[in-house]
Amino acid sequence: MVDYLSNALWTDDEIAFRKEVQEFCAKEIAPIADKIDKGPFPRELLSKIGKVGYMGVHHDRSVGGTERGLSYEIIVAEEISAVNGGLDMARMASTTLYGMPVARFGTAEQKKKYLEPVVIGEKIGCIGITEPDVGSDTAGMKTRAEKDGDDWILNGEKRFITNGSQADYMCAFAITDPTVHSKNGMSAFIVDTKSDGFSVVQDHELLGMKSARVSWLKFEDMRVPSDMLLGKLGEGFHILMDELDSERTAIAGEAIGYARTPYEIAVKYSTERHQFGRPIRAFEGVSFKIADMAMKLEAGRALTLTAARMYDRGENITKQASIAKLFTTEAAVQITNDALQILGGMGYTTDYPIERFLRDARLMTIGGGTAEILRFLIQREVFKEFFPQ
Ligand SMILES: Cc1cc2nc3c(=O)[nH]c(=O)nc-3n(C[C@H](O)[C@H](O)[C@H](O)COP(=O)(O)OP(=O)(O)OC[C@H]3O[C@@H](n4cnc5c(N)ncnc54)[C@H](O)[C@@H]3O)c2cc1C
Repeated sequence: MVDYLSNALWTDDEIAFRKEVQEFCAKEIAPIADKIDKGPFPRELLSKIGKVGYMGVHHDRSVGGTERGLSYEIIVAEEISAVNGGLDMARMASTTLYGMPVARFGTAEQKKKYLEPVVIGEKIGCIGITEPDVGSDTAGMKTRAEKDGDDWILNGEKRFITNGSQADYMCAFAITDPTVHSKNGMSAFIVDTKSDGFSVVQDHELLGMKSARVSWLKFEDMRVPSDMLLGKLGEGFHILMDELDSERTAIAGEAIGYARTPYEIAVKYSTERHQFGRPIRAFEGVSFKIADMAMKLEAGRALTLTAARMYDRGENITKQASIAKLFTTEAAVQITNDALQILGGMGYTTDYPIERFLRDARLMTIGGGTAEILRFLIQREVFKEFFPQ
């Protein structure tokens, strides 16, 4: 398999790893990529992905990972998304969105019990932030956790939770002290979805990402033992902000994947399809679109790798992760749309998977921080750099 995007910034080991993941995807996922778009993804496939190690590249060896870092997670995210976006959304929700808060803030016991089974693909995780009344403004969270003896009692609703109806464990955020700002009054919990009081209201019908399941959930007097508190009491908002940095970088990796396959199809089609006695690539209206796609893919990959490298060095990546996610997700929407245009009427059929990638890509200027919120965050970081307090 040819990797036509520049490899200048990647190590030899990362390049070899990408080839390995591409071979796995070609063998195990590509043959069923259209079929699983009807959803839900087969649980055994996620298990297989865990067994070959692609859930754990950024997790410690002590929990079954390989400790290679986020630069490897973005390779996995790109390669699986280049075949089926919904499947990678499910994988990533489990190992990164759920997995990273547990990895970075959990106790050794919590990691052994609630992270290792997810990293090796035996269990599925999800993250519960969004609520019916709370989207971008996460500090306005309504879900409450009240102390009752040694336990916490959770009440509230979570909406749009990827893997919600499939997950064994959730990293759930709730207000533990409503008398102070959420920055200090929010806490994070590991929740066992088999607990009494946990229910699935419904799986949402989605435009794309159809091989994943995204759910509306309810906690009704759900008892959570106090040893399931993640991090310190009142540390939830900090855990949430920390999680979003790795999530946004990994989503940027996925976005390159959604865009790459439609781009490849468009390049080939523009050579094969003839109109007015010439291949359509001979028309600048077509070939300049391809030039723009190539430019956005190269730039997006470099931005994403920059954020991942900085994360792996322990640096603050709020600005870089936001830039990478914003650029790649907007580029993915443009690239998938332009690829569809290059195929004309054929692009609008299901004979080619471009319509599927376009539907999948469309989510990502919304999920994990909308494009508007990311622009807000980027400018805030810029002004902090120019005018430190
Ligand atoms: C398929 C899918 C999967 C998801 N998976 C998860 C998951 O696993 N876990 C989870 O917790 N959440 C998940 N989400 C939720 C997702 O993160 C939210 O949808 C997203 O953060 C936006 O929140 P919202 O939909 O409530 O939009 P709102 O916050 O209501 O925003 C609506 C519009 O207003 C704009 N807006 C809001 N505030 C501002 C502002 N200050 N300035 C400018 N514009 C603004 C937004 O950009 C947007 O265009 C998922 C969502 C979807 C659709």
